[in-house]
Amino acid sequence: METNNNHEIKSNKQYHPQMHSAEHILNQTMVRMFNCKRSFSNHIEKKKSKCDYHFGRNLTESEIEEIESKVNEVIQKNLLVTEEFYSKDEAETKFNLSKLPEDAGNKIRIIKIGDYDACPCSGLHVSHTSEIGKFKIISTDFNEGVLRVRFKLG
Ligand SMILES: [Zn+2]
Repeated sequence: METNNNHEIKSNKQYHPQMHSAEHILNQTMVRMFNCKRSFSNHIEKKKSKCDYHFGRNLTESEIEEIESKVNEVIQKNLLVTEEFYSKDEAETKFNLSKLPEDAGNKIRIIKIGDYDACPCSGLHVSHTSEIGKFKIISTDFNEGVLRVRFKLG
C-alpha cells in the first residue's frame, strides 16, 4: 500500500458526500445480507437517492427494517472513512474491481469505512459515518430482475 496526498478527485463524481457515503454502506449491507452484487446503477441526490441491484424479487417489510437497522448501526458507530492507494495488481487481489473504469490508471483509490466496507471509488465522502445522519428507506420495487431501493437521510 502507498499513500498519496496529491491525488485528484474526478469531477464527474462530486456526489453529495453524505448520500454517497450512505450508498457505500447500503451496498455492503446488501452484499452481506443477500450475497448479491453492489448496485449496478445509482442516482445520488441530496434529498433522495436510489440504488439498483440485480436481484430475484422485491424485499419484505422485515428485510427493509433489517437493512435500515444495520445501516444505521454502522452510521452510529461513527467509523472513520479513509482512503488508501494501491497498485492495480495489488488492488485486484484484494478488492472487487469489476466496476472500475477502463481509464482508472495504475493507482487505485480504495475507500474504507472502518472495517465494514472497502471499495474502489473516486467520489467524495464524509470523514466519519456519524456525519451521514439517519438512513431511511423510502420504498423499494422490483421489475424485470432489478430491485430499486429509494432512500433518504434525516
Ligand atoms: Zn464513494
